[in-house]
Amino acid sequence: RNAKKSAPFGSCHITKDGIREYDRMVAIQERVHSLYDSDELSLALQPQYNAEAEIVGFEALIRWYSVEFGWVSPADFIPIAEENGAIHSIGEWVVEAACDALLELMNHGHHRTISINVSARQIVAPEFVLFLNRTLKKKGVPAQLLMLELTETALVSDMSQVRSIMLELAKLGFRFSVDDFGTGYSSLSYLKRYPLSILKIDKSFVNEMAPGNANEALVKTTITLASSLKMSCVAEGVETKEQAEELLRNACYFHQGYYYAKPCTANDVEALLFKTWN
Ligand code: C2E
Ligand code: CA
Ligand code: CA
Repeated sequence: RNAKKSAPFGSCHITKDGIREYDRMVAIQERVHSLYDSDELSLALQPQYNAEAEIVGFEALIRWYSVEFGWVSPADFIPIAEENGAIHSIGEWVVEAACDALLELMNHGHHRTISINVSARQIVAPEFVLFLNRTLKKKGVPAQLLMLELTETALVSDMSQVRSIMLELAKLGFRFSVDDFGTGYSSLSYLKRYPLSILKIDKSFVNEMAPGNANEALVKTTITLASSLKMSCVAEGVETKEQAEELLRNACYFHQGYYYAKPCTANDVEALLFKTWN
């Protein structure tokens, strides 16, 4: 669109939009350091359903509304925060906010789990275990209600260190799920070395599942693998009734996705908990 307006930049051409995007990224890079202390962060909760279409838990997804930039997607700022170290303070903000949400649910008589996304740098940080333990004690939230989601890349970043941290956390009652299963790592041997409760089928497989295609084969294989390893299987990115039904036919009983509910604010959660599905 801006091809005519592009300005020479060394040997390549960067469009005005490209420069604006670059400036935005540089500004975001600076802002993420003080984000945890601002009032621009909030936590969205996306419900996870069982085969009876009852809510069994939620995934906590961070949201940033910036006065300067508008809504900034976590897919944009989380990798930047991981790169420059701001992920530690942001990650702590998420743990605190998830505990507050759990308390709110518990106070209304709802005992559900909340899954939080933990990045590779966070899990190996020396203060992470201490922080988790201290925060849960301070808030009075049982560790059993907090599920920690790790991607395959995080799990294999430093295998022996990650394993011993996970074993320590598992002793305290925390549980773990493998996020975006099937997208990150080619070896499966890590599955038997870690204390894992859940395999989350990546939304790209669920979304592109069609009779007889490779995605369907991968989904079915993941469901069988989880069951053989005595793990639960959660399908994410379920967008249609057909996908939900196909997953149920293949014995995948836990679903998350737009078909059921989009990530929502804590205020909407109460209403959703009373809504029935058919
Ligand atoms: P993720 O962990 O794979 O989270 C699922 C993403 O899929 C979320 O995007 C969610 O809004 C979206 N989603 C849910 N249902 C559907 C569906 O039916 N269809 C489609 N197409 N998408 C669906 P979101 O919230 O933009 O988050 C993007 C990524 O940012 C997350 O991917 C996760 O890797 C990261 N992230 C989000 N919150 C946090 C956080 O608190 N900490 C860390 N470390 N990473 C986070
Ligand atoms: Ca996740
Ligand atoms: Ca995921």
